[in-house]
Amino acid sequence: MLCVVAAFIERDDHILIARRSTGDPNVLGKWEFPGGKVEPGETEAHAIEREIFEEFGVSVQSEKYLTNSVFEYPNRTVDIHLYQCRYISGEFQLHDHSESRWVSKEELLQYDLAPADIPLAKYVLEDSHSLQISDLVVGNKYNNKQIATAFKCSSMGGMRRSKKTNSLVLIAKHNNPLYDDQWTEDGILNYTGMGTVGDQTLEGNQNITLATSKESGIHVYLFESYQDNQYYFDGEVELVGDVYTTNELDQNQNMRTVFKFPLRLKNPNSKLLIDIQDVKNSEKEKRKSIRKFSQKEMKEKIKSIVSSGSFREVKAIYRERNSMISEYTKKRANGVCDLCGKPAPFKDKNGNPYLEEHHVVTLASGGPDKIYNTVAICPNCHRRIHVLNRKSDIDKLQKVILKYLLDDHDIENIENFKKLFSK
Ligand SMILES: [Zn+2]
Ligand SMILES: [Zn+2]
Repeated sequence: MLCVVAAFIERDDHILIARRSTGDPNVLGKWEFPGGKVEPGETEAHAIEREIFEEFGVSVQSEKYLTNSVFEYPNRTVDIHLYQCRYISGEFQLHDHSESRWVSKEELLQYDLAPADIPLAKYVLEDSHSLQISDLVVGNKYNNKQIATAFKCSSMGGMRRSKKTNSLVLIAKHNNPLYDDQWTEDGILNYTGMGTVGDQTLEGNQNITLATSKESGIHVYLFESYQDNQYYFDGEVELVGDVYTTNELDQNQNMRTVFKFPLRLKNPNSKLLIDIQDVKNSEKEKRKSIRKFSQKEMKEKIKSIVSSGSFREVKAIYRERNSMISEYTKKRANGVCDLCGKPAPFKDKNGNPYLEEHHVVTLASGGPDKIYNTVAICPNCHRRIHVLNRKSDIDKLQKVILKYLLDDHDIENIENFKKLFSK
């Protein structure tokens, strides 16, 4: 029997299926949950992640086993194990398939599925894997619908009570300047109560549910959001201190009383690491709305700031650069900015002209750390190119690099340069 793994990948309530253009004639041209064979010595979870990368060029993370389907084709029997996978990164490309599609559950059976995949589709349709609280993984992102399914609560609001699961779901919206939910260095989140206008109250709303959560035994769960409809799951939290009040501006810019609830993770070992990019993006969004205020209005608001800023650990990707390439690039520029052509604005402590290395095709977007992609530019030009990303600047830098390589008769790197920039 041939054991294969298949991926159930969901995005915005749609499921990825693909049509086979290679391989076994039994399934050629049929639609399927993508996947493939498990290699000797490989775990199934690893196999599905590898297969999806090979077939589509994207990274997924296998989250859990869902179900299997055994099917006897004329020449062999296959046993397909379906794994729920979470999309991580990458653009979808087709390698072993002629087509791929994101389809709703309801549309699944309208496709000409490979026979072995039909029971899997039926399983998915029955929703027998519908999300439970215990399925939630700390650090994963969920949407409103998934939260409502797991907790059997409303899909809206910042505090969502569910009698059915005896739980209270809290959402900390870091992309909403109205709520200033800050973490302290000791891992306490000072969570702002509900109520957007006027003084907040501890009556007739979920503020009182949270304030009395210790006595009532209700389970309190925390999600944090940096983007609309994307919520990182923090896990279960508990109230660890007295509820207190402070003054903050309300939606109409009037000073009012708000409640703060000091919360701590019940399991401090499973701490959530937010992607630093999410934090930066939400910061950008906040600033956009802040800039609309006049200088005078800003001064007013600054007066109301009592906290000293939030403290949190984040997950960042560090891209290592080769220091020889960096120093070579600066030597090559000979103290003059490769973009504006002016001398470096100052010398460093060792008397070297201060220039910064920049990758014309950035490392983050897959650019190579090679001398046919690097320039040395002044800090002013460097900021400008990252803030404005102007085509005219990029064109100029390409010309400068090409001139260096031509002057150097560096045939090999001229070839590399052409390959990189002809894309
Ligand atoms: Zn410059
Ligand atoms: Zn740069």
